Amino acid sequence: MDLLVVGSGFFGLTVAERAAASGRKVTVIDRRDHIGGNAYSEHEPQTGIEVHRYGAHLFHTSNPAVWEYANRFTTFTNYVHRVFTTHDGVVFPMPINLGTINQFFGAAYSPAEARALVHRLAGEFDERSAQNLEEKAIALIGRPLYEAFIRNYTAKQWQTDPRKLPADVISRLPVRYTYDSRYFDDTWEGLPADGYTAWLERMVDHPNIDVRLRTDFFDETQPLHRRATLGRLPIVYTGPIDRYFDFAEGVLSWRTLDFEQEVHDVADFQGTSVMNYADAEAPFTRIHEFKHFHPERADRYPRDRTVIMREYSRFASRDDEPYYPVNTPSDRAGLLAYRELARGEDGVFFGGRLGTYQYLDMHMAIGSALSMWNNRLT
Ligand code: FAD
Ligand code: UDP
Repeated sequence: MDLLVVGSGFFGLTVAERAAASGRKVTVIDRRDHIGGNAYSEHEPQTGIEVHRYGAHLFHTSNPAVWEYANRFTTFTNYVHRVFTTHDGVVFPMPINLGTINQFFGAAYSPAEARALVHRLAGEFDERSAQNLEEKAIALIGRPLYEAFIRNYTAKQWQTDPRKLPADVISRLPVRYTYDSRYFDDTWEGLPADGYTAWLERMVDHPNIDVRLRTDFFDETQPLHRRATLGRLPIVYTGPIDRYFDFAEGVLSWRTLDFEQEVHDVADFQGTSVMNYADAEAPFTRIHEFKHFHPERADRYPRDRTVIMREYSRFASRDDEPYYPVNTPSDRAGLLAYRELARGEDGVFFGGRLGTYQYLDMHMAIGSALSMWNNRLT
């Protein structure tokens, strides 16, 4: 074996695939019973509908190298992600665009009129000096739109007052003065035509790659554990960075999600793939309806049944799946200390969402794995 990869998410599999293609023998271990990390999907047994077990995953990128690389393993459908949100019993398009603004104010503003209105409403704070998510959001869209669509949703999603969250979280969401309601701005987007798992399986389908599931790096009863491998061969580690160092610099905080999945005997539950719930009264943040991700499979999916998943957000304890880094000031201080420790850990390369304590989209995980391979591992 020339390389050990801990974790079979997109980061680990990209490094493993590149190493195998260049002639190295690679072993990939994962503590779960399947490959793919959080991008894993499976067919719901009663309906055959593809369900993303760890929450809906939409692929999008503007990075040509990542797009070319992904297309080696799968083709993509022409799915374009659009989201709606329910506020006060009425459905609006999200992210906020001219359609949302006109519907909210019961008006027919032109782009220039809408801009002027939002500019007037947003005067309370300056975008550049905004100190937290609330100030930044108000500076971008004004208080009425913030209170309707952002404040309660954000508080539910982060379980934290938006005045205590960093301003940049909201920058992920565009605001548009056109009727363009696409969720993402990227050059390419789509869903893997035959599913995420088929894509992930093709990445490891190489004689140089040996995959071992239900194998925890820290379990000393299995032969590839930390003490047995450290210093003997290069290790790419994509598990939680604080766990690697036995929490020596404290526990980094994460949010986790609880999913409530149901099969309904109706053709269509909500008419779209993702419906957000902007108000505090709904305890969940959104509902996914998976058949809408693949309209091209309409003749294969049941006509009279559908699968939905409600998503609830909460702080993660040590035993929960870590999903989103919370990034409080004390987390950032802890992360700097862990980075310092990581620099001193010869022969171990920390990567991916958990290994770097960063929210990475799939294209970012693949892109950073390709750079690690090209710049540090070849
Ligand atoms: P992961 O996928 O988390 O893989 C890490 C792997 O390491 C896991 O399989 C884990 O079991 C394994 N591991 C951890 N510790 C150990 C250990 N001790 N021993 C052995 N194995 C271990 N991205 C998008 O582009 N679009 C989206 O719509 C999108 N939606 C998302 C929704 C949710 C709810 C979440 C959480 C993420 C979403 N993402 C999305 C991000 C996407 O999941 C990540 O970019 C991708 O999973 C990153 O891959 P990774 O390899 O870094 O980590
Ligand atoms: N957001 C919101 N209302 C919405 C959708 C998003 O307030 O209807 C905010 C929320 O703070 C969220 C951020 O915008 O954390 C980024 O949204 P995105 O959909 O990118 O978050 P994800 O669910 O991918 O973490």
